[in-house]
Amino acid sequence: MSSENPTTNESLPAEPIAEPIKEQPAAIQLKTSILEETEESMVDWLGERGFPKYRAKQVLSWIYQRRVDNFQDMSDLPKSLRNELEAEFAIFTSKTQEAQHSEDGTEKLLIELADGGRIECVLLRDGPRRSICVSSQVGCAMGCVFCASGLDGVDRNLTRGEIVEQMLRLQRLLDPEERLSHIVMMGMGEPLANLPRVLEALEIAKDGEIGLGISPRRITISTVGLPPAIDRLAESNSPYQLAISLHAPYDELRTRLVPVNNKIGIVPLMEAADRYFNATGRRLTFEYVLLKDLNDSPACAEQLVKLLRRKTAMLNVIPYNPVPGLPYETPAPESIHEFRKILMEGGINVMFRQRKGNDIQAACGQLRRLREKEPHLVSFQKQRSSPLE
Ligand code: SF4
Repeated sequence: MSSENPTTNESLPAEPIAEPIKEQPAAIQLKTSILEETEESMVDWLGERGFPKYRAKQVLSWIYQRRVDNFQDMSDLPKSLRNELEAEFAIFTSKTQEAQHSEDGTEKLLIELADGGRIECVLLRDGPRRSICVSSQVGCAMGCVFCASGLDGVDRNLTRGEIVEQMLRLQRLLDPEERLSHIVMMGMGEPLANLPRVLEALEIAKDGEIGLGISPRRITISTVGLPPAIDRLAESNSPYQLAISLHAPYDELRTRLVPVNNKIGIVPLMEAADRYFNATGRRLTFEYVLLKDLNDSPACAEQLVKLLRRKTAMLNVIPYNPVPGLPYETPAPESIHEFRKILMEGGINVMFRQRKGNDIQAACGQLRRLREKEPHLVSFQKQRSSPLE
């Protein structure tokens, strides 16, 4: 899971972590990913080869809506076009290295990118909901102490196609009559540090004509809270929901849990959140991972009430999902109950989210870390996993 932090500070660069990050895979691929193409660029490509532009919609809707994984299966296209598409493009450029299935219906994929980078994405089944959690970077620079994704820093930003490819791989886990209903950009990485590519990928997610057709009200960008990027998101008029990972109600504790808070601070973060709300009118969500004996005290709950009580906001509290190798624990049920009671009596609009995928490594970055650092543990875990490729 993602979590994040902070706010604005004079000393914080406008793009605090983007500069050293590579934008493109290092490996040279033989074929171009068609998921990097827009409808406009496909119209150009088709025009250069003498095909009518309406074919662009056909090709793309075969991939995004009709879930075809092979150009030769696009049965209403001329054979010559199918052959040219096959010669130039690949639909999938990554490999699913491992798939884990939870007893509660959660499925997690460890994906190896064309350049060898590894990312994770998750499908969550909850009643009629089919929600997916998608990564935006290889690794993460934010360094939240309880998160496996940030333990080794960030390697690079994902491309538009690599973000979309996660959505399609998870979509293809569904039964044919099922559709993806919700997306959270809450996997590995800080989405606001890769905002242009994230917004490009979400365009195809919300496109009802050729894309996945997911309502933007059901698409959430989750951030630790980088104020300059929050302002840019507001200015972009993007129709998505914003979730800010708070995790602590005061600076000293938040900086311990989310070190980037040291450069930002809670007050500037909340000011950026207010600007976002004023500019968009959309209710904010704050995320709070509840960690035993760290941020689960009645005093923390009372300070949270003071921080949030005048805001048009929802607070999501998520009891921590332990990560092997990290010393943090899930709070006791009594602490969770007391924490909830104080928030509700304080008038906070709060939801306690049920943890999903407890029997697999469903928290962000766990599976990737096991695969890279402790391959013998992965072998053991394969008792309940099924590699797809
Ligand atoms: S380290 Fe990165 S991926 Fe992990 S919780 Fe923090 S922001 Fe999210």
